[in-house]
Amino acid sequence: MALIVQKFGGTSVGTVERIEQVAEKVKKFREAGDDIVVVVSAMSGETNRLIGLAKQIMDQPIPRELDVMVSTGEQVTIALLSMALLKRGVPAVSYTGNQVRILTDSSHTKARILSIDDANIRADLKAGRVVVVAGFQGVDEHGNITTLGRGGSDTTGVALAAALKADECQIYTDVDGVYTTDPRVVPQARRLDKITFEEMLEMASLGSKVLQIRSVEFAGKYNVPLRVLHSFQEGPGTLITLDEEESMEQPIISGIAFNRDEAKLTIRGVPDTPGVAFKILGPISAANVEVDMIVQNVAHDNTTDFTFTVHRNDYQAALEILKQTAIAIGAREATGDTNIAKVSIVGVGMRSHAGVASRMFEALAKETINIQMISTSEIKVSVVIEEKYLELAVRALHTAFELDAPARQGE
Ligand code: ADP
Ligand code: ASP
Ligand code: MG
Repeated sequence: MALIVQKFGGTSVGTVERIEQVAEKVKKFREAGDDIVVVVSAMSGETNRLIGLAKQIMDQPIPRELDVMVSTGEQVTIALLSMALLKRGVPAVSYTGNQVRILTDSSHTKARILSIDDANIRADLKAGRVVVVAGFQGVDEHGNITTLGRGGSDTTGVALAAALKADECQIYTDVDGVYTTDPRVVPQARRLDKITFEEMLEMASLGSKVLQIRSVEFAGKYNVPLRVLHSFQEGPGTLITLDEEESMEQPIISGIAFNRDEAKLTIRGVPDTPGVAFKILGPISAANVEVDMIVQNVAHDNTTDFTFTVHRNDYQAALEILKQTAIAIGAREATGDTNIAKVSIVGVGMRSHAGVASRMFEALAKETINIQMISTSEIKVSVVIEEKYLELAVRALHTAFELDAPARQGE
């Protein structure tokens, strides 16, 4: 008998009918003899609706109160799913994060899980019940409700699987696995049978929102067998695994990630003296703004240009700070650009292949797409380009790296 944690995302519990379908599915697993813990998200659109309500009261909702409110979305679905199970004669019980005691730190809207008390859940499982837990939420040491950041139900699922030493954590969603890139953008994208934790972590960090980054971190750290599957279609899904098989078949890159979440800032004509990077980025980090990519041009005339990217939400604040810095250090000007996108190729196969970056640049050049910034690590290459070329770039790279699915008969 196995212990399985099954997480169902927003679209999978988006209507009462779908919740009934999920209950049927869970019932089948239960009847096969496995112990089941289910984690659910809010019904699709609900979290956005709640945030919208808060924003009608204030532009920047007070984080503690926002958490009190958005956590209600998941509270509704745990109750509905438990009712749907009970109606079918399946013993079930719902738990909020607080009732489990998913203890987090106090960083409202982006809390981190510190510990999970598994005593109640274990007792229920022993008594033959299916346990239905609200995703995305926890409680801090003072009893305040916290949430784990958008997409955080994935992390609840994986963290519970780790705490319970489950045999597998299954993430059920509206696609049948992890694809080479977002299948909604590139129809030729292919489902991957397997992807390593390391690659999945890069994909998630670089914009593939199929799994929340922290859930992948957790799964890697605690070695939780993790699988992404379609909620209502049969299939093997994608296994996120530790092993990096060395085979001739191994592709150079496994996937392409992209995001439109960043903005670019440039300060020009900076007197080039030691410590200049610190003078520019010090005030930015003091304002709690995270910097992603950085480029400093070679100095000429004893001045240099310096460009970096930040999250779009931080753009205005960062630009104001940079303008102040420009005045303070005697730079010529500070400017910004939000019409950018970041495209990244990811794959452990890069370690053993030379020329991957240039192949990427060649594919973009063929489409006359200008590269504004570049950053690389051992298993990824990212470029910043003009936002309007994003889809073209992703498709071109998908083809250039031979990731396209073979055309089906008759196509
Ligand atoms: P859920 O509500 O179940 O948590 P999400 O919307 O968070 O679902 O994640 C699933 C979505 O992730 C898919 O509908 C798909 O558009 C998107 N996605 C982005 N990149 C990928 C990828 N590489 N593989 C599969 N899906 C991806
Ligand atoms: N309901 C939350 C969100 O929309 C958490 C989740 O779905 O994972 O972000
Ligand atoms: Mg999600």
